[in-house]
Amino acid sequence: MALRAKLADEVASQGIKDARVIEAIRQLPRHLFMPAEIRGRAYEDKALPIGEGQTISQPYTVAYQTQLLSVQPGDKILEVGTGSAYQAAILAVTGARVYTIERQKKLYDRNQRSRFLQQFQGIHYRYGDGFLGWPEEAPFDKILITAAPEEVPASLIGQLRVGGLLVAPVGKQGTQQMVRITKEDDGQLNTASFDYFSFVPMLKGKA
Ligand code: SAH
Repeated sequence: MALRAKLADEVASQGIKDARVIEAIRQLPRHLFMPAEIRGRAYEDKALPIGEGQTISQPYTVAYQTQLLSVQPGDKILEVGTGSAYQAAILAVTGARVYTIERQKKLYDRNQRSRFLQQFQGIHYRYGDGFLGWPEEAPFDKILITAAPEEVPASLIGQLRVGGLLVAPVGKQGTQQMVRITKEDDGQLNTASFDYFSFVPMLKGKA
């Protein structure tokens, strides 16, 4: 518990002001979202390998994206890139209903088998290609992309409700810029750009 509190304080000291996000980091046992071999490092503010060449995002990055989404209790959120489901759980404990998609079958199956994850009632999982979104559940209040596309997929913009927000790291492999797109009431898109990060690429199709 002390380790979680320290991690939450560290993230807050780097400029994350959304109190609900910091509280979620304080609450969630991040080690239980990762394979046993790396649990000893769970409370370092670092991205760590979870298998299949994928990573659990750095807590600061999770907090940064969540803050940009300005999550409100009851929000219906689409997440692309379930990975470890840590980000999905942060959204769920913040009061959102989460629809999360993963393209790697092994990661999807591991999450399905996890008894630990069953406690997060608000998370719905799908094995599929995030470029296609989740049309049956659209429109979404918010969309969060946790792998990097070279451009924001138009299909996902189409699944965002009017007045909704989409947050994504956009760019080529290596470095991407965080963007937040707002779909205005007249349907116009408003893009704001933020800091630079390094995410794994958003890939087409299923694996
Ligand atoms: N949100 C995750 C971060 C995982 S890293 C967490 O909290 O741990 C990004 C994830 O996006 C990887 O698991 C990767 O397999 C997945 N991904 C990449 N392209 C995708 C796509 N087109 N559709 C769905 N998932 C994708």
